[in-house]
Amino acid sequence: MEITRQHILQWLREDDPRRLAELWQQADQVRRDSVGDQVHLRGLVEFSNHCVRSCGYCGLRLGNEVIARYRMTADGILASAHQAVRFGYGTLVLQSGEDEETSTRWMASVVRRVKSETPLAVTLSLGERGRDDLACWREAGADRYLLRFETSNRELFDKIHPSLPGRHSDRIAILHQLRELGYEVGSGVMIGIPGQTYDDLANDIELFRQLRLDMIGVGPYLPHPATPLGQFGDRLAAPPGEQVPNSEEMTYKVVALARLVCPKANIPSTTALATVNKEEGRELGLQRGANVVMPNLTPLEYRRLYEIYPSKACIQERAEDCHHCLSHRIAAIGREVGSGRGDSASHRHRSTPADPG
Ligand code: SAM
Ligand code: SF4
Repeated sequence: MEITRQHILQWLREDDPRRLAELWQQADQVRRDSVGDQVHLRGLVEFSNHCVRSCGYCGLRLGNEVIARYRMTADGILASAHQAVRFGYGTLVLQSGEDEETSTRWMASVVRRVKSETPLAVTLSLGERGRDDLACWREAGADRYLLRFETSNRELFDKIHPSLPGRHSDRIAILHQLRELGYEVGSGVMIGIPGQTYDDLANDIELFRQLRLDMIGVGPYLPHPATPLGQFGDRLAAPPGEQVPNSEEMTYKVVALARLVCPKANIPSTTALATVNKEEGRELGLQRGANVVMPNLTPLEYRRLYEIYPSKACIQERAEDCHHCLSHRIAAIGREVGSGRGDSASHRHRSTPADPG
């Protein structure tokens, strides 16, 4: 039976550890029944930290003059792709700020090279781009696209994510376009954004269900001191009792509820979760609904410059070390590293001819 909005809200407000143990157990069971015990590894390459946007929460925002900016070359990205193959990963995730210097053609040629030189699935996460760009990259072979809607509360979204001049920001509309273009579609939210209420978060989780997401990425909002939200976020906070905390526990609740509303989705145990609990955040995420981790393949010289929030986990680990550490952690909780690309079971199901929906 589908979990109701009322139940989602009740779980979000639950703080009795014995009751919460039931939620963790339920999410873990649904995860096992729907996507199995394999944990899929997606190699992450943060290939540019240039960004034209002024998101109130993110350290890569245009106005942050403190960080040095970088852009990797196509050859550099391909070297990371080959490293992903050597480590046995099935997917390469190419992520960046919203970088207008990333031209449609250049990106298409990078995707084509990765697809012709390796067996990897390619996931893009480049922010808001026009339909023509998305169509061109899909044609070049990109398989998946990640674009978090961040919050379903439009008023809050506009406050923390200003539109660019003359370009109304509508991430939900882009998610629909991605679906039409045949991408596996991923989205998600930050948890505990100042001004985010329990009602908002319940709506977010309902929207995961409505959008029938193939991938759901959620993590705690982590304040960055060089951002407006990091400096003045308190002023936006919802009244006491209504404001969602940006806590580790709240993040597990949303991971678990995401699993219940989208049983077949691929759900990562995120770096933000590993940042708030370096000892066992990733493992607990995997035991409470998640089935994916994203080892970082970004070359070390760039990794510390991709500072979306401070004290990010694994900022100094070499790709080899990240790989060994994560493989060990997965084995230690009795799970196995996934083989193959780890495509979305829901997308596969939707794409069969017998299922026109
Ligand atoms: N520029 C692309 C975009 O915005 O979709 C992709 C890169 S962006 C850094 C990836 C995600 O980082 C965002 O969707 C946001 O949820 C997350 N993020 C940014 N700042 C954050 C913060 N301070 N705390 C937690 N997550 C953050
Ligand atoms: Fe740029 Fe993405 Fe950061 Fe916003 S969240 S400032 S679009 S990198």
